Amino acid sequence: MDAVREVEPQDFDRVLSSMCTEPHPVARDAAERFLATNPGDPGTYPQVAELEREAISLLGEVAGLEDPAGYVASGGTEANIQAVRIARERADSRTPNVVMPESGHFSFQKAADLLEVELRIVPTDDDHRADLAAVRSCVDSDTALVVGVAGTTEYGRVDPIPELGRVARSVDAMLHVDAAWGGFVLPFTDDEWHFGHAPVDTMTIDPHKMGQAAVPAGGLLVRSADLLDHLAVDTPYLESTSQATLTGTRSGAGVASAVAAMEALWPDGYRRQYVRSQNNAEWLAEALEKRGYEVVDPTLPLVAASVPRSTFDALRARGWRISRTATGELRVVCMPHVTREMLASFIGDLDRLEVR
Ligand code: PLP
Repeated sequence: MDAVREVEPQDFDRVLSSMCTEPHPVARDAAERFLATNPGDPGTYPQVAELEREAISLLGEVAGLEDPAGYVASGGTEANIQAVRIARERADSRTPNVVMPESGHFSFQKAADLLEVELRIVPTDDDHRADLAAVRSCVDSDTALVVGVAGTTEYGRVDPIPELGRVARSVDAMLHVDAAWGGFVLPFTDDEWHFGHAPVDTMTIDPHKMGQAAVPAGGLLVRSADLLDHLAVDTPYLESTSQATLTGTRSGAGVASAVAAMEALWPDGYRRQYVRSQNNAEWLAEALEKRGYEVVDPTLPLVAASVPRSTFDALRARGWRISRTATGELRVVCMPHVTREMLASFIGDLDRLEVR
């Protein structure tokens, strides 16, 4: 008890690298109210099970899916693992492979390990998007799944989803879109990323990232409910008869807070947030460029810039929670809690470091 009282949870005023954020106040309340419920046992907890149906229906609206099916997962990792699992179960091959751009999230490595599928990683192009020619030459009759990312973790890039869909179909593979982070900003851009734009079979879209729900609230959407049958196992001791989720007991807090956040914010609140975050990203990119750093154009609210390691370390020592891309660039994610004042203070610290 005392240990918890003595420790302050992380406050967000210097957090620039996280893809999570402060939950919206209504999401926080909802999480607290449903803390002791378990949507993994819908027969016993029917109220939260009903809320989960509402969550999937709202996620479907966000992702352009007319008759949505899916569930609220613990996060993007679980949703990605389950998408690979569906594809593996559906495939005829005894040696199935998954083809993914190098910008794909590391959760697919976990999926490949767990599910014993081969992960084929293809390069990205000069703009950090999946290289289509490389994807085409990598797929074959054993390909169970092609992965496209809509909002990459390092550069916020959106892969050419319709084209990836055509490549997937050419070898009778499924197409999974990982919109874990991008899903709540992309409805307000011109990108072609969702079910209505392409033959998308499954999608990861996480309320606990840009959706402003409390952790844990990830989302797995599937084009048709029968795809979930590939995941279902019998559940003899529960009041319900089968379960498609990876985890058993799950957080009703995540489910309720996802619904509360989406009801409060979809679409206008999310649109306003996207505009605010994108403006912040562009402001930061310009500020860094003016100081002579090389910046990757922020097409979504995520800025990557070549800042020397020593500067990066000094900023961290000043308490900034920042991270680096695989190739060493500074990476700042303009989440809802990231304000212009925070960024100005960050740039102020950078300037003070440069003067010394
Ligand atoms: N997919 C993408 C594109 C991500 O950026 C992340 C995490 O940042 C994930 C999946 C994994 O999500 P989680 O950490 O919620 O499991």
